[in-house]
Amino acid sequence: MTKKTIEDLRDIAGKRILVRVDFNVPLDEKRNITDDTRIKAALPTIKYLIEAKAKIILVSHLGRPSGVDEKLRMDPIGARLSELLGKKVTKLDDCIGEEVENAISKAKNGDVILLENVRFYAEEEKNDEIFARKLASLADIYVNDAFGTAHRAHASTAGIAEFIPGVAGLLMEKEIKALSKLLENPEKPFLLILGGAKVSDKIGIIRNLLSKVDIVALGGGMAYAFLKAKNWPVGKSLLEEDMVPVAKEIVKKTYELHLYDFHTPLDHIVVTGKISPEAEKQVVERGAVSENMIGVDIGPQAIAEYEDCIHRAKTIFWNGPLGIFEIDQFATGTIAIAKAVAEAQAYTVVGGGDSIAALNKAGVDLNKISHISTGGGASLEFLEGKVLPGIACLQDK
Ligand code: ADP
Ligand code: MG
Repeated sequence: MTKKTIEDLRDIAGKRILVRVDFNVPLDEKRNITDDTRIKAALPTIKYLIEAKAKIILVSHLGRPSGVDEKLRMDPIGARLSELLGKKVTKLDDCIGEEVENAISKAKNGDVILLENVRFYAEEEKNDEIFARKLASLADIYVNDAFGTAHRAHASTAGIAEFIPGVAGLLMEKEIKALSKLLENPEKPFLLILGGAKVSDKIGIIRNLLSKVDIVALGGGMAYAFLKAKNWPVGKSLLEEDMVPVAKEIVKKTYELHLYDFHTPLDHIVVTGKISPEAEKQVVERGAVSENMIGVDIGPQAIAEYEDCIHRAKTIFWNGPLGIFEIDQFATGTIAIAKAVAEAQAYTVVGGGDSIAALNKAGVDLNKISHISTGGGASLEFLEGKVLPGIACLQDK
């Protein structure tokens, strides 16, 4: 970890600390929070700062408002946070300006203030300098604990750190450490399992990890570009034609790297006609996929082969379901892989919204996964080797 964290801060009692958190939680029509994982994930940092008697000012975005949107105010989140902390949380109705300054000036050591949805201002996403300055003027120190938005250069995720010193929160630190372990000296063999719908989303990660991994197992819709690249028939399965040359280039690279432990599914679950919960499914070998067939899951031979890969690995990164797991009868492959990853004697990291949903669907004990990345796009960009503005802006140790 090359960046300073809140644990590197000294004498913070009484200091105003603005913490960018990711409280972008799902809400139902009645504005009830349907999943508070992200609020819970921010608790270690908030509790640490309360203990240290700082004045804590939290800021987050919620949804995609254009201007002030009553439905996207932070009030339900403030209420839930207060319950979780067992402590009063003062929710303000703006995130900059005189009233906010007044409220902060009245705060006592250890108080927690929650600002209004920062995306009510279009300046936030534009990383507007004046807006970033106004946010910075509210505090002495900036803490970024919103790993999920670290790949965006917005005013509250990056711009603000031009004006006050910035350090990482504990969640941010946890994410950086866990993902760095994959990039720097992973214990070998290192297995990369990739699935999901679009191969174009995953190309960056394959490119960056190809020289670091020892085993690759592909599934889901993205596998069809690779099967096509290897001249296997794909029928009517999901295929991004323009990605086939890119897949070919990657396959060629695997030969150059002597990466022969590179697997595409040996067999598939297919349907003809419409993809639906009632559709009649069939198992076919990969050579037997005909014109009218749509691949919806990996088949039993592929599952067995991937389980073997998982048993052999010492480090595993998994992103992307291996089939259309939202439909129960096409979730077999994904559930088998989720269970095998959870049981693996390896350092295991899982990232991606749908992949985490798949872990839940499989009913595995999430504590058995070494690290579940909350990042989504940010985790993928980190593993692609990109510089994330929300991390780059923080002070080096
Ligand atoms: P994550 O959110 O974990 O990063 P993605 O968003 O990349 O994962 O991919 C998830 C989606 O991929 C799911 O909606 C799933 O239905 C879809 N998918 C998986 N396999 C197939 C397939 N064979 N054909 C079409 N879609 C697929
Ligand atoms: Mg997804």
